[in-house]
Amino acid sequence: MSLDLLALAAHRDDVEQTCGGTLLKMAERGYRTGILDLTQGEMGTRGTVEGRAREASEAARILKVSWREALDIPDGRVENTWENRLKVVRVLRDLRPRVLILPYWEGRHPDHYTASVLGYEAAFLSGLAKLSLKGHGFSRADESTGDARASAPEGLAPHRPFKIIYASLYRDVRPSFLVDISEQFEARFASLMAYKSQFSDQQAGSGIFPAQAEIRARVESMARFYGLLGGVTYAEPFVQKEVGLVEDLMAIPVKSI
Ligand SMILES: [Zn+2]
Repeated sequence: MSLDLLALAAHRDDVEQTCGGTLLKMAERGYRTGILDLTQGEMGTRGTVEGRAREASEAARILKVSWREALDIPDGRVENTWENRLKVVRVLRDLRPRVLILPYWEGRHPDHYTASVLGYEAAFLSGLAKLSLKGHGFSRADESTGDARASAPEGLAPHRPFKIIYASLYRDVRPSFLVDISEQFEARFASLMAYKSQFSDQQAGSGIFPAQAEIRARVESMARFYGLLGGVTYAEPFVQKEVGLVEDLMAIPVKSI
């Protein structure tokens, strides 16, 4: 399986909050999209790992993603180690996405900004021809196990995403560009609400979790804010480190005055 677009995030339900509308929009355009969650959510105040896995698949179905998996990196302890980078390299070489969405590289939660740097460094390493995953517990494709991957060694050939963009909704930073998600907003909100164990109104953790109506108001105001910047109803913000390149000045969107 190969993907056009992969979104990497620290926790299940991160992608639903930062770039779920964009993932859905790309899937509706016919691109193959995927989500890699680094952790399984075992530190969450609410719910269980198994429950969260079910909720994550339901959210993935709503966002029409073709592939979703969670690595086994400890929740609350996402560290940019060699071992963790190789876990991400294996996924990148397997799925070969052209575009990689990472969390923005600064933030309140250490797992989020660490996931950003970890993802970037893994994307770099993944392109190194001489970096072999053999001997790191990832030698699947080199073993004669008889599965499809074993007969397709190119599945783990070096691969570097062409484009890395950063989902910046969690951070007050001026985005490089926006994606209009006016048509996808309701489904994106539904994908977040698929995490019933986290977001349905309940007693456990009610001191730290906002009520569902409050979540709706927050999610909607953020999407509206970025929508206003782009002259549309709802949008999601992204940062790219590169400058933009334009072919046709007549086709640049977003009105100046
Ligand atoms: Zn998170």
